[in-house]
Amino acid sequence: MFSEPHYDGLHGWIEVITGSMFSGKTEELLRRLRRAELAHLSIRLFKPLIDTRYSMESVVSHDNTRLPCVRIVNPESILADTQNVDVVAIDEAQFFSEALVNVCTALADAGKRVIVSGLDMDYRGLPFGVMPHIIARAEFVTKVHAICVQCGSLANYSHRISSDNNLILIGEKDRYEPLCRKCFCQVCQQQEHSTSTQNIFSKQ
Ligand code: ZN
Repeated sequence: MFSEPHYDGLHGWIEVITGSMFSGKTEELLRRLRRAELAHLSIRLFKPLIDTRYSMESVVSHDNTRLPCVRIVNPESILADTQNVDVVAIDEAQFFSEALVNVCTALADAGKRVIVSGLDMDYRGLPFGVMPHIIARAEFVTKVHAICVQCGSLANYSHRISSDNNLILIGEKDRYEPLCRKCFCQVCQQQEHSTSTQNIFSKQ
């Protein structure tokens, strides 16, 4: 479990919580924020306007714990809204534009503790948007894992059950399932096989 360094109000840093869907990222983010509140630090939590799961005004984890949040479109609005804040947290960060990289860097450079939570890979198993760039700049990176629904191993991938091909498709267990590497590879091979079979038939 991550043990945060003592925050002195002068030395900022970036910490990242990442992993697949259903891996407990938001639970871990809320745990760190509750501890920051116990340490009498001022916190502010942001999430993208696109994410409407569970609640419009709070970040809610799968276990139904919640903290109030500010929902934004443009990451640069975080800068103006956090001047007197010690800890700046960003949930579902993979949905923000690349401007979030400079925002996180500026906040940490200004002495703030920045906590970023988000998916590291999209449903295809490819690096997701801005996340790899923030991970590269972070002092601390915590990768959490779900449990593979097929074999019970540690899951690293968010496999999309739905046939929708849009990169951003908000959903829960109706649309995604956590899979380990082995099971994800098997599913991808089966899908490639069925797609190539469809192509053979469509050419006839
Ligand atoms: Zn598996």
